[in-house]
Amino acid sequence: MLETPESLAAEIQNPYKACKGRSAIITGSTSGIGLGIAEAFAQVGMNVVLNGFGDRGQIDEIRRRFEADFRVGVAYSPADMSRPTDIAQMVSEAEAQFGGVDVLVNNAGIQHVEAIETFPPEKWDAIIAINLSSAFHTIRAALPGMKSRGWGRIINVASAHALVASPFKSAYVTAKHGLLGLTKTVALEAAEHGVTVNAICPGYVLTPLVEKQIPETAKARNITEEQVIKDVLLHAQPTRKFVTTAEIGGLALFLCSGAAASITGAALPVDGGWVAQ
Ligand code: NAD
Repeated sequence: MLETPESLAAEIQNPYKACKGRSAIITGSTSGIGLGIAEAFAQVGMNVVLNGFGDRGQIDEIRRRFEADFRVGVAYSPADMSRPTDIAQMVSEAEAQFGGVDVLVNNAGIQHVEAIETFPPEKWDAIIAINLSSAFHTIRAALPGMKSRGWGRIINVASAHALVASPFKSAYVTAKHGLLGLTKTVALEAAEHGVTVNAICPGYVLTPLVEKQIPETAKARNITEEQVIKDVLLHAQPTRKFVTTAEIGGLALFLCSGAAASITGAALPVDGGWVAQ
């Protein structure tokens, strides 16, 4: 919290001083946006718990690189975000290893693009579980510790699709709108305990999640993959550029700073102007 002009001056000199030594769980951080956020956190001296699927050798390589380059503690949890028992175990192991979870980033997510008439019910269930319900379970497990220490940051990686819809993404748009409702509700419950809860709403970031939906969207809209990139993805964003993982990492880090102490319950678009239209 910045209460005086002097505290602002100190913050400008060293905005992330308060982050050093804190510990964060970033779900879905073996790839894409989550990995970008984990790297941003480690760079300012935060211990990080990586989570997500992928090749174990490559995940160990990320751990070693963070530990060597940034001199922080790095753990890995293979918890499946569709399994509440895995989630509870991930949070309690992180608390045991680092003495608490100060920052929780709910980022793990999947996508499926298909018309609702043929949308597979099992894909609907998986998207709701991983993109929405997992955040309920992580918050439920991590919030008591944050409240007891009087400081915490919960950052939900939602989407521009938490604010507007696109066709053929029924489960994803539903989950992301729900995640925004959860963000606002928990922000109110945590507000007097030094814990902020916000949603980052990215536009299109060229990660494996988006690369996979290019052929799916081409099929659903009966257009070429080149047309999907130019006429669907980048068409949504007035900048005509993909958002970068580093830009999302930078905002997540800012939300952990003292200057962001009064930002809570917010949906923060990082979308090249998409939802301004
Ligand atoms: P990505 O595919 O690169 O990364 C997804 C991560 O989630 C990976 O680490 C993966 O292993 C993990 N994951 C998937 N299922 C999991 C499960 N059951 N349990 C644990 N981990 C699991 O995708 P990304 O684009 O980096 O997406 C990250 C988040 O950002 C998602 O919530 C996504 O909806 C959101 N988002 C992405 C974009 C975009 O354009 N890429 C835009 C807006 C929002």
